[in-house]
Order: sequence, then C-alpha cells, then structure tokens
Amino acid sequence: MEANVIMIKCQKNRRPFGARIQKEGRDWLLTWAFDIDERIAAKEGFESQSTLKGSFITTDEYPGCPHCGARSFFTCGKCGKITCWDGSDTTTCAWCGHTGKIQLVDELEVKGGGF
Ligand SMILES: [Zn+2]
Ligand SMILES: [Zn+2]
Repeated sequence: MEANVIMIKCQKNRRPFGARIQKEGRDWLLTWAFDIDERIAAKEGFESQSTLKGSFITTDEYPGCPHCGARSFFTCGKCGKITCWDGSDTTTCAWCGHTGKIQLVDELEVKGGGF
C-alpha cells in the first residue's frame, strides 16, 4: 500500500501537524492527523520532495486538525503549501499569510515527505 505524510499548518494557531494519507485508486485518503514539532518535521524531511497528485478525501476515521478540529484543508495559491480549513469563505495561509477566497478543486498537487 502506498502511504505518505503531508505537512499542514493550522490556520488558527499556525502550528504544523502531519496528516497520514494512503493511496486508493487515483485518490488519496486522509486517515490520520497528529501534532508535530516544526523542528522535528524539518529534520525528518516532511517538508520535502515528492509531488502527490490526485483528489484528497477525508475519511470517517480522520480526526481533523489536532489544533482546531477543522476537517478540511486548502492549498495556498501563492506558496502552494497546505493549511487546515474549517469551511469559511476567506482563507489565510498559515505559512505565508496570503489571504484569499477559497477555490475548491478536485485535483491537487501537494508535497509530501517519504514515509
Ligand atoms: Zn487547525
Ligand atoms: Zn501561502
């Protein structure tokens, strides 16, 4: 089974967390989320490398953002990184501060570290 971890930052407190994803057909299912220390994440290489393409779908077992409980996320149109998302219209990227209107897309490209 193909599995990976993507790094997301919380829109509320700008702290990172890891989300575990696994491949199912053409889609990626989000199955778990866990609090993560930014320095450890950098050291373990979570911020790196491979581009994952496809639809990202949250499963029932996915607990949501460990910081605020948001079950969705969005990719920033400016820096391309991922921030948790609670469904509001306006979003602020937790990585670069870019504010924008949410655009829902079926296909995303996100960066994940090897896991
Ligand atoms: Zn959050
Ligand atoms: Zn950004």
